[in-house]
Amino acid sequence: MADRVLAMRGPRSLLRQIREVMAGGGPAQGRLDQVVKIIANSMVAEVCSIYLRRASGEMELFATEGLAPGAVHVTRLRAGEGLVGEIMRLGRPLNLSEAPLHPSFSYRAETGEDPFHAFLGVPLLRGGRTIGVLVVQNRTARVYAEEEAEDLQNIAMVLSEMVASGELMGSAELKDVELAPHRPERLKGARFADGLALGTAVLHEAPVAPEKLLSDDAAAEEVRLQDGLDTLRAQIDEMMDGHHVVGVSFEVLETYRMFAHDRGWARGLEEAVRSGLTAEAAVERMRSEHRARLSQARDAYMRERLHDLEDLADRFLRVLAGETPGRRKLPDNAILIARNLGPAELLEYDRTKLKGLLLEEGSAASHAGIVARALGIPCVGRLTGLRDRISEGDRVIVDAETGEALLRPRPDVIEAFKSRAAVRAQRRAEFEKLKDTPAVSKDGVRVTMQMNAGLSVDLEAIDETGADGIGLFRTEFQFMVAEEMPRLDAQTALYAQVLDAAGDRPVIFRTLDLGGDKVVPYMQSEREDNPALGWRAIRMGLDRPALLRLQLRALISAARGRDLRVMFPLVATVDEFRTARAFVDTELAWAERRGRPTPKRTRVGAMIEAPSLVWHLDALLPMTDFISVGTNDLMQYMFAADRGNALVSERYDPLSPPALRALKSICDACGETGTAVSVCGEMAGRTLEAFALISLGFNRLSMPPAGIGPVKRMVLSLDVEAARRGMAPLLKSGSGTVRNEIETLARKLNVAL
Ligand code: PEP
Ligand code: MG
Repeated sequence: MADRVLAMRGPRSLLRQIREVMAGGGPAQGRLDQVVKIIANSMVAEVCSIYLRRASGEMELFATEGLAPGAVHVTRLRAGEGLVGEIMRLGRPLNLSEAPLHPSFSYRAETGEDPFHAFLGVPLLRGGRTIGVLVVQNRTARVYAEEEAEDLQNIAMVLSEMVASGELMGSAELKDVELAPHRPERLKGARFADGLALGTAVLHEAPVAPEKLLSDDAAAEEVRLQDGLDTLRAQIDEMMDGHHVVGVSFEVLETYRMFAHDRGWARGLEEAVRSGLTAEAAVERMRSEHRARLSQARDAYMRERLHDLEDLADRFLRVLAGETPGRRKLPDNAILIARNLGPAELLEYDRTKLKGLLLEEGSAASHAGIVARALGIPCVGRLTGLRDRISEGDRVIVDAETGEALLRPRPDVIEAFKSRAAVRAQRRAEFEKLKDTPAVSKDGVRVTMQMNAGLSVDLEAIDETGADGIGLFRTEFQFMVAEEMPRLDAQTALYAQVLDAAGDRPVIFRTLDLGGDKVVPYMQSEREDNPALGWRAIRMGLDRPALLRLQLRALISAARGRDLRVMFPLVATVDEFRTARAFVDTELAWAERRGRPTPKRTRVGAMIEAPSLVWHLDALLPMTDFISVGTNDLMQYMFAADRGNALVSERYDPLSPPALRALKSICDACGETGTAVSVCGEMAGRTLEAFALISLGFNRLSMPPAGIGPVKRMVLSLDVEAARRGMAPLLKSGSGTVRNEIETLARKLNVAL
């Protein structure tokens, strides 16, 4: 276009000019006044205005060329009000030949904008938030060309970066401009792992801020962009082929791939780079645009994809920075913020620095929740909108007692929090005093209190809590944190270490329970539509006997001369158990033939997790030496509700007649055959649930270490016989849950919950 001065002078020189003015000295207002002049001139526009967002949420006219100067700092528009408010609401440009005809047009007499018809406004975006609006207007009714709209967006990008830069923000005029949420906020979520923590927010999917926005050589920059795109695409293809990531679902990968190969996306990036932006700034611009557009989507699925796209943009920025994915350094007292996390991803972080975990999604029964509990890290999940409301470095409180996240808390809130944390520490100290007291109820019933573990670091907790042994050692954790498949000697060493730490207290090793949400990067896995119902746990072990036998060999070797207890996960039929048990015998015979030391005694048990076995206990129990009820899985299969899916995982209550009856029939059947039975699902570590289990007849519980103190205190206050009598009628209730009734019973019996 002949009148596109911008094109004639080249957008790059304009961007530079803006940058120089913005970075120059003098009052911020003067600099903004100059910038609007330059832009109006270049765009051959009669008007150019900058609006910035106040902390009140309103857009305020900060500088204008062409509108009445008296309107500056006077004209203010709320989201959705007027065209500027509409751009703020939508987060995307508006290009109108007849602005007054737009339904959102709001006439403001003080601006004197009557003569102007054509209107082009673009949002100033930062981290996907609209922090301002840049507008050009012309008298004649015309539609701005697409290139002009793009140029204005590039200008907006540079401008928002400069507005946010320390120098300009330091000025008095801009003091109240909101670049990121900075007020205290309280988000309500759900408690995944109990505890309290105060610390500094660290974003798991950390945004990478481009340092340089303008390139020196557009052609060279285009080559960088293309190289980066090639690397990014190769990385994603590799991830899809081999599932080389943990905690990223196939669906997310599909979205990555879709965008990484999308021509429109690539073209947008190329054009931005050609106009003078660096590849990084181009990615940032595309990200902001997409974010603004998709966040308006009504469809939850589309909004969901927005997160994927953001992650992809970050991934791309890391590729451009030449970073390889790896472990992040944490500040002291780090509170990790993520959408969702795979257990292995969580285990990647330095646990001495990680003090809390906040998740936008997830569920308490998901393995990230379990790992958080195992590590004693307080965790709150299902915090809708979390990642939009928090920035890296914000102070944050994880209140896993109330299931809340307090973002940027006020000093008085911090003080109140600290005194609660002190009370909590005192309670813990009291639990610690109980550690050598056996858990015997008031009427003399001894409850065995074991702990769940999975890594060597968990072992300290045996002595700290005074646990009566390890009722569930999740052997797959070692596999999940390793870069490659742990070899025989590494497995043997860990198991021996566990037995050493436990001394004469029993340890139940559960064989590999992989699959479902527990994936390991080095093992190829087929994509399954229903992984929780798929090829997992003992099914994998039976189909890959070499893997199972290797593990059994390691266990046998580690237990030399000592007792060995092995348990198989997710057994669904007695035949599966029979076959699995036969592998133990084969390996024992193998060791004996070679004259290798063998365990003093070997006991083999099954987990009851598949409901099918509840009706075949008469056949199963005579074959087993012990049973452990995995209520996490048993409940998910009984209620057909994915334990990792926040929409359904808490819909059903284990404290309900069908669940309690199933548990009671397991306990009774084991009583008849004299089979040792325990409950090792997470419910065993919660006082009210443990009260219910003991009332049903269970007297062996295995739980996260943090549960031992509170559950023991509960047991010490309990009259088991009275609890049994009170519980019996509740099992016959016609309600979907009897939680309240159980709690009332416990309170009536003065049980310490
Ligand atoms: C269970 O399912 O209850 C259990 C203890 O095993 P996991 O949580 O590891 O699946
Ligand atoms: Mg399980």
